[in-house]
Amino acid sequence: MSTEKTFRICVLPGDGIGTEVTEAAIAVVEAAQKRRGGFALSLDHHIAGAEAYRTNGIDMTDETWRAAEDADAIFLGAMGLPDVRFEDGTEIAPQLDLRFRFELYAGVRPVSAKRSGAKMLSDPRSENIDFVLVRESTEGLFASRGKGEVLCDREARDTMVITRGTSERLFAFAFEQARRRKSIGHNNKVTLVDKSNVFVSMAFFRKIFDEVAGNHPDADVERIYVDACALDLIRRPWEFDVVVTENMFGDILSDLAAGLVGGMGFAPSADIGDEHAVFQPAHGSAPDIVGSGRANPTAAILSASMMLNWIGHQQSVSQCLDAAQLIDDAIEAVFAGNQVRTHDAGGTSSTADLTNAVIEKITAIQIN
Ligand code: NAD
Repeated sequence: MSTEKTFRICVLPGDGIGTEVTEAAIAVVEAAQKRRGGFALSLDHHIAGAEAYRTNGIDMTDETWRAAEDADAIFLGAMGLPDVRFEDGTEIAPQLDLRFRFELYAGVRPVSAKRSGAKMLSDPRSENIDFVLVRESTEGLFASRGKGEVLCDREARDTMVITRGTSERLFAFAFEQARRRKSIGHNNKVTLVDKSNVFVSMAFFRKIFDEVAGNHPDADVERIYVDACALDLIRRPWEFDVVVTENMFGDILSDLAAGLVGGMGFAPSADIGDEHAVFQPAHGSAPDIVGSGRANPTAAILSASMMLNWIGHQQSVSQCLDAAQLIDDAIEAVFAGNQVRTHDAGGTSSTADLTNAVIEKITAIQIN
């Protein structure tokens, strides 16, 4: 009798190119799982998002919420369409509800030049860009979502919320990321990004960071203001290792960081909590290119690799970690060989071209 574990993945392709890049990522994950073996996947697809809302009047049904809650991990394509909105004018965004409902406080956004098919900076040191931005994802300025007020059409207010509990978990997570990355040659450095020179909420954030940093005397620690960080991300991005910050700052800086390595098509992400996690490319549904075959699936494929890596650590299954590594190695090999270049990187390769090239590498890579 087989003793291999089966992991249930709740797949939410969502809207626009979300469905296209999800198909690509799932094909790659299945290839890696088949190649590595030692575990199985049960993929459970559900409809959710703006198109679901337009058709059925509900963006995510109770049944889908239950499936997401029961799954070992959730994979999401992209959600939202600019022309589908609630009555208050805001967009349909169950991907944000998932973060709040499942307390996915750590938004992990890896930025790697090696895993990109686009060269953005002329400085040769940009080849070494490889850092992880950890964005708090359940509070900060986003805690005001749905609660902001406009007073007498003269003044509007949104409130920043920083709590000790979430901040402690966030910083502990960031130091753990740095510790893990040390084993693959990074320098165990954590950079806090805040605006503690101006806001009391940010001074509190920094105070908690310093307390948590005290538990990690082996780590190198840096603190910078968000405006200076924006400058340094352009001036010396290769010096960052793990960067941790508030929700809104992370929202903005992670797009800037994606721009360093070719744009949103190369930007994977994960939203991680203590029990649940959602893996999705950082980009949106890109209605301008849907159906054209121009969607770059790299971000989605790397997000799927992050999913296998997270499951591997959570459930102590080394074969999942190996399968994730196989995907990362295959992506790096494809870009190192200049084999394919997607439209967003100035080439002509389609979604399928890149997906097939990655699957070919997965099949060909020597496994020890
Ligand atoms: P977007 O990320 O969808 O697109 C921005 C630009 O990047 C577009 O020019 C698009 O063609 C390009 N692009 C994005 N992903 C690409 C890929 N994989 N390959 C090639 N090019 C790619 O952002 P937007 O246009 O601001 O938003 C479109 C919709 O997506 C909106 O409804 C928005 O709310 C939603 N959105 C969802 C998420 C999410 O699901 N996490 C994130 C951002 C935006």
